[in-house]
Amino acid sequence: MLYLFMCAELSDNIKKLYVDDTDVNPVEYSFKFKCTKCGEDAEKINNFNLHEKHEIQGGKGEATFIMKCKFCESDNTVLANTFEPCLFAQQEEHSDNDKRKKYGLNGNKIDINNYAAIMQLDSRGWAINDFLYTALPFKVELNSGKIMDCQFEDDGSWYDYDDESSEEVYITDFKYKIEKGK
Ligand SMILES: [Zn+2]
Repeated sequence: MLYLFMCAELSDNIKKLYVDDTDVNPVEYSFKFKCTKCGEDAEKINNFNLHEKHEIQGGKGEATFIMKCKFCESDNTVLANTFEPCLFAQQEEHSDNDKRKKYGLNGNKIDINNYAAIMQLDSRGWAINDFLYTALPFKVELNSGKIMDCQFEDDGSWYDYDDESSEEVYITDFKYKIEKGK
């Protein structure tokens, strides 16, 4: 299994950050893939959402994303699901240690303690070269309970102003990483 982790520096008035992804308004996640069978990069950016599953031909179950590699013609698939939906300012709130241990995501090997594993990807043939997060709609929940819309700039930052508290709200240094787990 692959896991998509996200991490960011949140201003003190932010409680949590999450992708604005619901059954009613499913979000399209954009990736650049590489075929693990022949090593070639997929030509285009590819999108999928977590709410639609497609039947894999030949009775091999379901996948979120199915695409044949143009180079080696392998039928590659990805089954993706939400894992830890939110990045909290307080790490213990987004990462359940027992759950992480079960899926082989203990922070000892890799620096993931400050990251939330937002997606689990059972990828058969597609490795992820790049996750394009700047078009993705996020929500920010403040400590006051107020929720704001957020979209990141190319440098992984977002700046806004909360009229109610007359305070700046900002996120810097948004980062993602892909790690292997169970
Ligand atoms: Zn290939």
